[in-house]
Amino acid sequence: MTGPTGTDHGWAGSRRLLRLLRDLMKGGGSSQVRLDKVVDLIAQDIVAEVCSIYVMRSGEVLELFATKGLKPAAVHKLRIRVNQGLVGLIAAQARPVALADAQSHPNFAYFPETGEEVYQSLMGVPIMRGGRLLGVLVVQNRTQRNYTEEEVEALETVAMVLAELLAGDRLLDLTAATPGGEGGAMPGRLSGMVLNEGLAIGTAVPHQRGIVITQVVAEDPDAELTRLDDALGEMRDALDVMLARSEVARDGEHREVLETYRMFADDRGWLRRMHDAVRGGLTAEAAVQKIQNETRARMAAIKDPYLRARLADLDDLGNRLLHHLLRLDERQREEELPDDMVLIAADLGPAELLDYDPSRLRAVVLEHGAPTSHVAIVARALQIPMIGRCAGITTEVREGDQIIVDGETGQVLLRPSEAVRAGFVESMAAKERQKEAFRAVRDLPSVSRDGVDITLLINAGLMIDLPHLEEGGAEGIGLYRTEVPFMIRDSFPDVPTQTDIYSRILDAAEGKTVVFRTLDVGGDKVLPYWRGHDEDNPAMGWRAIRIGLDRPALLRRQLRALLHAAAGRSLSVMFPMVSDVAEFEAAKELLQREIDREKAFGDRLPAEIKIGAMLEVPALALQLPQLLPRCDFVSLGTNDLVQFLFAADRNNPRLARRYDTLSPAVLTFVRNIAQQAAEHGVPLTACGEMAGHPVEAMALIGCGVRRLSMAPQAVDQVKTMVRALEVEPLQDSIKQLLTLPDHSIREKLRSYASDRDIPI
Ligand code: PEP
Ligand code: MG
Repeated sequence: MTGPTGTDHGWAGSRRLLRLLRDLMKGGGSSQVRLDKVVDLIAQDIVAEVCSIYVMRSGEVLELFATKGLKPAAVHKLRIRVNQGLVGLIAAQARPVALADAQSHPNFAYFPETGEEVYQSLMGVPIMRGGRLLGVLVVQNRTQRNYTEEEVEALETVAMVLAELLAGDRLLDLTAATPGGEGGAMPGRLSGMVLNEGLAIGTAVPHQRGIVITQVVAEDPDAELTRLDDALGEMRDALDVMLARSEVARDGEHREVLETYRMFADDRGWLRRMHDAVRGGLTAEAAVQKIQNETRARMAAIKDPYLRARLADLDDLGNRLLHHLLRLDERQREEELPDDMVLIAADLGPAELLDYDPSRLRAVVLEHGAPTSHVAIVARALQIPMIGRCAGITTEVREGDQIIVDGETGQVLLRPSEAVRAGFVESMAAKERQKEAFRAVRDLPSVSRDGVDITLLINAGLMIDLPHLEEGGAEGIGLYRTEVPFMIRDSFPDVPTQTDIYSRILDAAEGKTVVFRTLDVGGDKVLPYWRGHDEDNPAMGWRAIRIGLDRPALLRRQLRALLHAAAGRSLSVMFPMVSDVAEFEAAKELLQREIDREKAFGDRLPAEIKIGAMLEVPALALQLPQLLPRCDFVSLGTNDLVQFLFAADRNNPRLARRYDTLSPAVLTFVRNIAQQAAEHGVPLTACGEMAGHPVEAMALIGCGVRRLSMAPQAVDQVKTMVRALEVEPLQDSIKQLLTLPDHSIREKLRSYASDRDIPI
């Protein structure tokens, strides 16, 4: 294909254009005259019939500021709302759009005052500065034109230059461009997902304030290359120093995450793209930012949590590099920071979090982030409360705002009134006192007042969860989610790597039980090296044991590693999402094959092997008479079980409070299972979220469950409840309550507890 500039590759931006734009920025003349020249220059260079600049005005509207090609009368008249038409879409998403046939796009809107009906193709990019949207730059062509990726990138570079021009010309009332306008001064409430538990109150500090690039076009590209390389060298040295710091140097996955992150600083592709951008005429910092913009655009389009985490690492490195290039003095900046910081960011890399003094950091709130994101792993290692997926946090919060982070419910309160603040401080203090009281039971047995033993275990997935086993009053790990270490790695861990992970877990458990659940991936838990297919309903899709049975080599490798790790010790293996007995038998058969293989090689086997099934699919509960004689233990995965019982997606916030786990239906189901397990003498553990909440745990005990596996921080509290409980009368009461037609028996159970001084 021959591009519009007559080359084979289309328009990839020209140094000449950048130079002309730079000269324009330096030259005199009114702002309007300069903008008019800019659109002329761009239209000519890219060979487009239209080039327009829209500028963000207060009230979330984009005003046409300059155009080549559209009707001149529309300038300063045409105003488009954010999200209206294609220009509004580019602004709303802060992402480029390139369409050969713009008019067939669902967002296309026709504005008669522009005369644009004759233009078929459209390419537009956001004009951003310091993370803030200033406007939109659009080109249009009369004929159908397939804009290439290079052309989009080149237009983004031009938009960077334009951002400086707009900011420098004071054309903008920048405060008016802040989304949300002045409304942000009122108290507000946002909610997100808890990535690390804990309560905090403090002063909002937006991450990455202050990075503003003033020089975009290079005077001397060679000098810029040297600047870039020098900054890269400085950054690598600084990273090495940081990773050697004592609170970071501890062993665990966070260490691995940070080491992989450090390796990215040498990533050839990343370095090459930045160097190319400098050679294309940008200054070193503009080149870094350009590649960062591209990374962010890729991030926005990617759902895979693992790949997102990797791109977030690159974004983090980009910011770090900018700091070195712009010589932002970290120490001075730190001194200005408050002692009770609540850090606010769109996303954070793991090392970015470590830039902040942990003793001054109360909490972190992110617009994005996921439980397996690298920053969440590091936050857990440092015990900093963190909330992610908090939509609006970066736009609604201002620097210096008071902010309350409730890392139990996922709520974030902005600019709370004095009364709310005082109430929260009081409840934090009460929680702390309560925790102290709960800690008192740590070394006491978990036994009810009428002498019933209740085994308390923890759920784990990372090495950093294990110190909890040592500190807490739990008897072992009731659920070790093996997929978690798989999700934070680059590639499928081979058998020796897996063996190493599992044996370290067993070492840390010091002889206490560890129940290893085989891989529960698929659906929305995607591994980059294990691509499933897009599924309409991933929770009920090709996941967990279904994948293991269809790809036996994968499951066998994991089973082999488990056998190696547990040689001479006790091994408990549990299969997830088993739907019928035949599946369980097939999985056991694979394990048997691995055992036979080990025997054939004369390898040492585990001293004992226990095999269990997770009860998460209701159908399996109807086959208990056949299942129970075939397994050593069963585990109730109430998170999945309840979602399937109610046909209500566990991750859908609209349904979060619609049904109650403490309903007669769920508890009847559980009670039935517990009765049959007891009859067969098969231990039953509950390991979903329910087990870690005292009222729910009490209900489970009342239904006959005697083993509970929960988040480590819940153990003390549940044990306190157990020690205040009499099981026999509770069982009788629950039996009665289950006959009620109620939606929920939560309140009745609460009253039951409070009447008997059972702390819940
Ligand atoms: C469950 O479903 O209850 C469970 C423990 O498994 P996960 O939450 O990992 O799906
Ligand atoms: Mg589950």
